[in-house]
Amino acid sequence: MSESYPLHLMNKKPNFYGFSGLDRAAHTRLDDEWFEKILQQGNAKVILSWRSQSMVNITIPDKPSASILELKSLDEIIQKADNIVFLGEKKGTPYVGVDLSSSDKEQFYNMIPEAGVFLDLREFGPLLERFEGSLLAYNRALLFWHTKNKYCGVCGGKTHVTKAGHQINCNDPNCGQLVFPRTDPAVIMLVHDGKRALLGRQKIWKPGMYSTLAGFLEPGETLEEAVAREVWEEANIDVSDVRYHSSQPWPFPGSIMLGFYAEAKSTFIRRNDEEVEDVQWFEANDLRNFSAHGKSLPRPDSIARRLIEDWLETMD
Ligand SMILES: [Zn+2]
Repeated sequence: MSESYPLHLMNKKPNFYGFSGLDRAAHTRLDDEWFEKILQQGNAKVILSWRSQSMVNITIPDKPSASILELKSLDEIIQKADNIVFLGEKKGTPYVGVDLSSSDKEQFYNMIPEAGVFLDLREFGPLLERFEGSLLAYNRALLFWHTKNKYCGVCGGKTHVTKAGHQINCNDPNCGQLVFPRTDPAVIMLVHDGKRALLGRQKIWKPGMYSTLAGFLEPGETLEEAVAREVWEEANIDVSDVRYHSSQPWPFPGSIMLGFYAEAKSTFIRRNDEEVEDVQWFEANDLRNFSAHGKSLPRPDSIARRLIEDWLETMD
């Protein structure tokens, strides 16, 4: 696989948190001895995590950077690791994620002073350089999956990690359950009527923020059906012509956002979902001057923002 960013896979600017350009070495990582060797070689780079927080250097507050540390300098810390996972290789450098969740995080600040502090990627993600953002997102999602699989879902027994962190096995050989990393698919869609875009807001969001409608895919449902159902549930509007736009890993905590455009067949809004506080039609010029009306668009690293900005370009 190419070591460059796979940006050719997507037109125009690629979505943030994806496109890391990492070679995940999916076949090689099946060999547990190979991963042991990677860890012993000492040229690996390490991302440290503590309970869904990533270590980040905030020396320059407006320009944080992921703390990407040398494995060979971390012997003492690695001994305290709850879990070590292989993320991928880039330009001959392996990247591994190290989970330190069961230890007191303050001790690490003393052991590696000036390396950084543990913060939630949600807080600083949009400010990161692209590769660092995708690396931390990947690590956060993978380690979150680990936290949810410490016990076997079939027999309730304890589990252990194999395949360089990409498989979890039940300890009981009579059960033998294997689990593979999961990502929850969610659809997110910009619905338009040719002139206006349909945006809503949830009660829990910061005041004034409006975004595209979204929701989780249900079993037995196609993506197109999920788009239509969510729009119906949240706004009582029928849609047609559901078209795929792009996708984005969204590790808060473990989703893949599948972005669509859809055309409204009706325009009268009636909210059916209690979580949705408001849904409105907005013209392109409303959105371009949103802040003047005390409103804001979703965060700049989100596919929701991307769907809105791309739609605005078509309305020039
Ligand atoms: Zn089991």
